[in-house]
Amino acid sequence: MEQEVTVKINDKMAGAYAKGYPLITKEAVESSEALKTEGAIVHLTDKRGRFLAKGYYGKQNKGLGWVLTRDAEEAIDQSFIERILAAAVQRRKTYFDDPETTAFRVFNGEGDGFGGLTIDYFDGFYMISWYSEGIYTFKELVVAALEQVVNAKGIYEKKRFDTKGQYIDDDDFVTGQRGEFPLIVKENGVNFAVYLNDGAMTGIFLDQRDVRNTIKEKYAKGKTVLNTFSYTGAFSVAAALGGAVKTTSVDLAKRSSSKTIEQFSVNGIDYESQDILVMDVFNYFKYAKRKELAFDLVILDPPSFARSKKYTFSTSKDYTDLMKQAIAITEKNGVIVASTNSASFDMKKFKGFIDKAFKDLGKKYSIVEEFTLPSDFRVQKEFKAGDYLKVLFVKLK
Ligand code: SAH
Repeated sequence: MEQEVTVKINDKMAGAYAKGYPLITKEAVESSEALKTEGAIVHLTDKRGRFLAKGYYGKQNKGLGWVLTRDAEEAIDQSFIERILAAAVQRRKTYFDDPETTAFRVFNGEGDGFGGLTIDYFDGFYMISWYSEGIYTFKELVVAALEQVVNAKGIYEKKRFDTKGQYIDDDDFVTGQRGEFPLIVKENGVNFAVYLNDGAMTGIFLDQRDVRNTIKEKYAKGKTVLNTFSYTGAFSVAAALGGAVKTTSVDLAKRSSSKTIEQFSVNGIDYESQDILVMDVFNYFKYAKRKELAFDLVILDPPSFARSKKYTFSTSKDYTDLMKQAIAITEKNGVIVASTNSASFDMKKFKGFIDKAFKDLGKKYSIVEEFTLPSDFRVQKEFKAGDYLKVLFVKLK
């Protein structure tokens, strides 16, 4: 069924592939002319034609595809996928065995040996995310392999590539039993309502699990909490359960309000005792400053890029400014949870943004907690850029 092509890698990058670098990039290939059919198996060779690695063509914003093996003889078939899935499941044994956490990542793309593909677990259901047309050509094999390796109640999928209307979406259901939504999953004992059948987002970002738990266990008790870019209010729920005096959640999306009410409700928290605002965060900062409001704990978790009616925000350009606005409404000795999922800069640079904000304001701070991706979001050591999450708990002095 599948096509096989050969692509030459330039001298500069050949060594990296020989050592396990997983992403096939435009810069590394001598010519991408052979790369025409999404899903084609690609043999990477050096300029003299010596085999380096084998992968597939699947265009994403990150690159042209992913390396799957450095063994020229290894077939990319269902049994290959079963082997890497089984290994991934084995690595998550402690998650599967923990009754207090029933939502986590089972398979994390190149970190588990197959870039462009992730699989999340939600209380017996599995959700596959496909990041390119190329990986989607492996659908039958991946689904069959997954059914062999795990005992799934049902399987759902998210197509995270431009489908150009090619695929008809019937509520993202793939096979097995249909779920009843919201599905209530647990994370360190906290409930979250999750939808696998309702567009791109499920209601919870699993990569923030450790951050939520840290807020709940160490930073919320007796505190006033402002959660900006709050989405379904997951950080607010964690803070409220951790004993916060009150939480204020701010998000621009109209849906965020009913979604946040739902997350509070499935945890038995009276949402009316919390503030839930549908509002532009940048307007809220102005409002809070005018009213001289100040919070003990401020959570900043903006999208990498956002455009609202009045403001355009890009993490890599505007984080320092965002941080300054947050500092202005944080109590003395308060803590700001500064988070970003932008893969376009590393932790060092992120710390630079924070540092500049304090320097500009002539204020002092210390970093009291630091997070990257949790262990279920496995990262390959040859591809550190896969660890996109950066979270710092910054204490004002
Ligand atoms: N912190 C959340 C995830 C945030 S997702 C969590 O942990 O669950 C980003 C959110 O930012 C989206 O819900 C989006 O609606 C919101 N958003 C984007 N621009 C905004 C703005 N200018 N003001 C308020 N919310 C904004």
